[in-house]
Amino acid sequence: MMKRKDNKEIKDDFEESAKILKRALPMMVQNRIPASPEHYSVWYSYVAKDNLDLVREMDDTVANVGGCSEIKSEILYKKYIASEGEKKLELMKREIETLISDISSNLDDTTRGTDVFQLKLQKSFGKLSNVESGEMSLEETMAVLREVVKSSKEIAKNIDVFSLQLKKADSEINRLKQKIADIQKDANTDGLTNLLNRRAFDLELAHLIMIERPFSVIMGDIDRFKSLNDNYGHLMGDMALKAVAGIFLNSNRDGSSSYRYGGEEFVMLLPDTKMVVARQIAESMRRKVEKLSILSKETGTKINNVTSSFGVAEYQKGDDESELIERVDKLLYEAKRLGRNRVMPLSM
Ligand code: GH3
Ligand code: MG
Ligand code: MG
Repeated sequence: MMKRKDNKEIKDDFEESAKILKRALPMMVQNRIPASPEHYSVWYSYVAKDNLDLVREMDDTVANVGGCSEIKSEILYKKYIASEGEKKLELMKREIETLISDISSNLDDTTRGTDVFQLKLQKSFGKLSNVESGEMSLEETMAVLREVVKSSKEIAKNIDVFSLQLKKADSEINRLKQKIADIQKDANTDGLTNLLNRRAFDLELAHLIMIERPFSVIMGDIDRFKSLNDNYGHLMGDMALKAVAGIFLNSNRDGSSSYRYGGEEFVMLLPDTKMVVARQIAESMRRKVEKLSILSKETGTKINNVTSSFGVAEYQKGDDESELIERVDKLLYEAKRLGRNRVMPLSM
């Protein structure tokens, strides 16, 4: 069973959420981002740093363009937060809307209560200063004190009601945060290999081209994978896929990211990386695949003859997505044609 949070923890969590909200909202205002739940979830996620890819892309955009437009915020939402589970999101959107309006109306009530109290208090203190000059009787003094006590009780009651609402809001926020994280992961991750999927790749590629950032792309494909499946079975095939995916993942560096592009095809996007460096990375992955040894514990079968072929290309200004993919795909095909287990183009 989960440990129930004590009041202090709830308060800390809430303070944390409120702190994030306080930082996120001014950033949204500064960038003229409308305060919709979609945008809010992007900026909340950015400030909370709970998705480092989102943070990286936002920081890059701000560094390159000097700010983040509404459209960019929308792209970040679609890329990192939205998913096929749009319906679930619709529901969540409404929950967030209700939550936000609940909190702000309660906040309004409490502050209004506090303002009234302060006014009363000031008046009472004003009257109390007459005590010193001996202008007030004891009865009058007591009456003023009673007023102060009464106002204090009123404000305390307001605050109690509010903190109860906050507790509710806090657990609600945590539930929604978890939901956002789950949906995010589902949408962009390949279930078998845990790599980012084709959808995430398409979005990232479009983004890099849109901001005209220099980058290279590596496309790798397992050689004769069909016969590996035929000879050793689909489960062994899946193990080989996971192992190659692991090599792509472990070869990421300096902001590059790896994706499962299709069946036994993988891609890596390498921002700010020259072709010659990308080629070296592909070559090192090729060697690692060659050295793989995959053992099935169930059957005792061992495979150590997996190889892969690679194409590497660099983005040229003016390229669109399909031109670049076609170029890298052609080079991969060339690597296959020349006998597989190699990187194209040849070393430069
Ligand atoms: P080449 O060297 O030219 O790339 O030959 P290949 O056999 O690797 O290429 P081909 O495109 O003919 O076959 C790819 C195979 O990958 C066919 C398909 O059954 C298999 N495959 C695709 N996705 C999966 C998967 O998720 N698991 C397994 N085990 N096999 C898959
Ligand atoms: Mg293949
Ligand atoms: Mg293939």
